[in-house]
Amino acid sequence: MKKKHFPLFIFAAISFFYISVSLFAGPINTVKNVSFYKFGKSEKITFFFSGRLPNFTHYVSKSKKYFTLRIDRTKVVNKKFSIPHSFHYVKSINKIKTKNEDSRIRFLLSVKSLKIIVYPLKNPNRIVLSFRRKMNIKTRSKVKAKIRSKRMPMKNTLQRSSSIKKNLRLKFMNGRGVVVLDPGHGGRDPGAIGIYRNNEKFVNLDVSRKLFKILKRNYLKKNKIFMTRFNDSYVSLNQRRRFSNRMNADVFVSIHSNSSRRKSLNGIETYFYNKKASSKRSYRLALRENMQMERVGSDLDKIFSDMWESEKVVASKKIAELTQNTLVRYLRMNNYKVKDLGTKYAPFAVLKNSRRKINKDLFPTVSILIEIGFLSNRIESRWLLRESYRQKIAEGIALGIKSYIFNKRF
Ligand SMILES: [Zn+2]
Repeated sequence: MKKKHFPLFIFAAISFFYISVSLFAGPINTVKNVSFYKFGKSEKITFFFSGRLPNFTHYVSKSKKYFTLRIDRTKVVNKKFSIPHSFHYVKSINKIKTKNEDSRIRFLLSVKSLKIIVYPLKNPNRIVLSFRRKMNIKTRSKVKAKIRSKRMPMKNTLQRSSSIKKNLRLKFMNGRGVVVLDPGHGGRDPGAIGIYRNNEKFVNLDVSRKLFKILKRNYLKKNKIFMTRFNDSYVSLNQRRRFSNRMNADVFVSIHSNSSRRKSLNGIETYFYNKKASSKRSYRLALRENMQMERVGSDLDKIFSDMWESEKVVASKKIAELTQNTLVRYLRMNNYKVKDLGTKYAPFAVLKNSRRKINKDLFPTVSILIEIGFLSNRIESRWLLRESYRQKIAEGIALGIKSYIFNKRF
């Protein structure tokens, strides 16, 4: 009799233990780190969590003086937050006492007309708050006037960018050209995590290696080709940019794979650097790809406060369009019905590299970043698992680069 009831007793004891633990253990999640950095004209504050992404809500007080972020079942250990001197929109941050396990964080705002965006990001799990000034009609017309005044030297810019191209062609024809390939992420930074556990860092590396071989063997035989990494090692974004400068790169190509919370999203897109992003999603993507830099902090300000390099933008836009079109067309010819997401721009830190020297003259490096597909999409992720598909992608990109350099359409 006793023996028969024994398993039942164990079961009861275990369930009692679990119930009591879950009742009295308190919040499971904590904010383990808070970071501050500037991104373009916005100021960003990021809360990193020890566990999974919590639910959250936020609101602005009626007086528009306070902004409050409420995070469910999460402990905030920090008592005080020290805001960097370069921050203008938030005066102070305070934790408000609550009766339950939720945390309420209140931000005292110094400017009333702020645009505040709050969004969660994964790997590492975090919530990002972005503060920037709302553009009123006055500043908007000021910006327009600024653009108008900039249009004047456009002709000059176009001339210069066509001379960049001519120089580039001659340089590569004489076997003195330099291409730097940049497989995104690596080492402790896996990049996007694929549905089939195919991490971005490996996909990027493999496509870049294949691209390296094709360029070296077929199209740019005598010229120099470098890679920012040849194996699964961690290279910071600053190191990548510095490397490109040191090698005096004419063309810089960064290879990445995309990911989205919208699992249906698929396709290929190519980016060139611009201070502004072409869409909200482009902006977020740049933010995610720039994430490595967050710890560097102040460096980002320096990079983005640089002057507008119009020749570089014009030239980079051209190679971006040509590579994007060629790659998509080539894959479709090979029966991969990829979606053409087009050419876009966003403030990618890694693309803000360098100038190169040609006959004592400084010219900008033309730089692009290709997102070769969505690892979060079932079909595209499965394609990217195939060696033969990655080979086709490398071939398509190689054709695009070649047609830009030698001015011959594929
Ligand atoms: Zn990436």
